[in-house]
Amino acid sequence: MSLKKNASEIDSSSVELSFHGYLPQLLSRTFRGQSDLLYELERKTSIKDLIESLGVPHTEIDRIIVNNANKVDFSYIVMPADRIKVYPVSSQTDFFSPSRIRPALPHGFKFMCDVNVGKLARWLRIFGFDTVYENNFEDDELAEMASKTQRILLSKDCNLLKRKKVIWGHLVRVNDPIEQIVDVVQLFQLERLIQPYRRCLRCNGQLLRVEKEKVDHLLEPLTRKYYTVFHQCNTCCQVYWQGSHRSGMEANLQAVLGMCRETKSIM
Ligand SMILES: [Zn+2]
Repeated sequence: MSLKKNASEIDSSSVELSFHGYLPQLLSRTFRGQSDLLYELERKTSIKDLIESLGVPHTEIDRIIVNNANKVDFSYIVMPADRIKVYPVSSQTDFFSPSRIRPALPHGFKFMCDVNVGKLARWLRIFGFDTVYENNFEDDELAEMASKTQRILLSKDCNLLKRKKVIWGHLVRVNDPIEQIVDVVQLFQLERLIQPYRRCLRCNGQLLRVEKEKVDHLLEPLTRKYYTVFHQCNTCCQVYWQGSHRSGMEANLQAVLGMCRETKSIM
């Protein structure tokens, strides 16, 4: 497969590809920013392999339409003279209904974060979302675990998201953790599901209300003196109180929530 030089019209040996939304920005350097491409087919190829060879991970695709009529899945074998339109996932995508592209998310929004988006993982936990993050997972393990536990894999690594095992995922395209969490909240329409301070920031366990007497022996003298409401992680037993979990965080949290509600999306 190669770029058809000096071609202005589709012919019997080439295919036409149109990338919509932000997808042209994901194309490999040679083609970046171009929404319409003509290709000469040199071998039999699935549409997944063709699109990913151009740089776009399959996780970013919402639907593919061939010859203005047929919605196809990733196994579709590209035919000469095909006209292929590729549309990105967006806040309009219904992740809970099956499509030609991928099965429905079965158990609500659960996430797995690659090592390159650790601060995004922390924000997701602050907002109460079940988020697995370990900084020692290999790519194979990440893809396998995300698939097995039916989580959305968040990463800045295109090649990780191109793996077949990855069913649900999202390419994080910004560096600032605040922009990252705003992007994820807006894309997956998470705002109404946010429940701050329900997850342990250390281990992702659930925080449960605990009587002060039960954790009294774990408290510093000033904490014991000034606080009465405590929560404890059901996994690692870390104790949280208003001054621990929320110190300096509440103002940030409200600011980020405000940004998530803005209609302007970075996508
Ligand atoms: Zn914990």
